[in-house]
Amino acid sequence: MRLGVDLGGSKIEIIALGDDGGVLLRERVPTPQGDYMATVMAVAGLVAAAELKLGARGSVGVGIPGAESRTSGLIKNANSTCLIGQPLRRDLQAVLQREVRLANDANCFALSEAADGAAAGMPTVFGVILGTGVGGGIVVDGKLLTGANAIAGEWGHNPMPGEHHKDTCYCGRKGCVELYLSGPGLAADHRRETGRDLPAVEIASHGTAGDPGCEATLQRYEARLARALAQVINILDPDAIVLGGGLSNMERLYENVPRLWGEQVFSDQVSTRLLKHRHGDSSGVRGAAWLWP
Ligand SMILES: [Zn+2]
Repeated sequence: MRLGVDLGGSKIEIIALGDDGGVLLRERVPTPQGDYMATVMAVAGLVAAAELKLGARGSVGVGIPGAESRTSGLIKNANSTCLIGQPLRRDLQAVLQREVRLANDANCFALSEAADGAAAGMPTVFGVILGTGVGGGIVVDGKLLTGANAIAGEWGHNPMPGEHHKDTCYCGRKGCVELYLSGPGLAADHRRETGRDLPAVEIASHGTAGDPGCEATLQRYEARLARALAQVINILDPDAIVLGGGLSNMERLYENVPRLWGEQVFSDQVSTRLLKHRHGDSSGVRGAAWLWP
């Protein structure tokens, strides 16, 4: 049995997958706010309760909003800041009395969609989260690529090509892809261009309904997404790019973006497919379970 845990800023979710990949159990609890040890104990409590209920012991994989430093073993780049600088894997292993695997939540998304999701059976997969932030993960032949710095796929903090970079990202760099392609980034662009303050989800629905200002914002978004993904295609040359996160529900992206990215890709034709996630919100927790083969 594989247990996957998605440790998010507001909730911690667990899933148990049987040998056939079927869901045996799924539970969630609120994340203890700002309390590291309480967070560790909440994860351990979910694992213990699941194993008691199912009468079996499982492997444990945990998806986190950050990365584990390969040199220090401490958590970095986490937006749940109480995790930063903590030896999370060591502490979970001590409480759970077994080896635990940790991965970034965008990596878990990519792994889930490559394992039995939208890109099942495809050799090279780039998974992208377009939500409150922008993250990415790379799976090659069913295996997650972590990288020497544990940042493989962190495309959200590359500079957006073709823009004048004035704004500074929370990460301290200027003009990050995330500043344009996250939900707040889409809303900020609309505000700059039209003076109107609308959340991303309303810009999407008004654009579809024929509002010209919203439509123009969505077209700028698609052009930027195409430019930014073309850079990934030139380096990784993936078979599929799978989109997840709130903005991935804009169906128009799957037609419009591949129409635009050819101009920037160094190839006469582009066979890379742009796909919508299959597992939606469940991808993070499913991918954490898949950290054990
Ligand atoms: Zn950044």
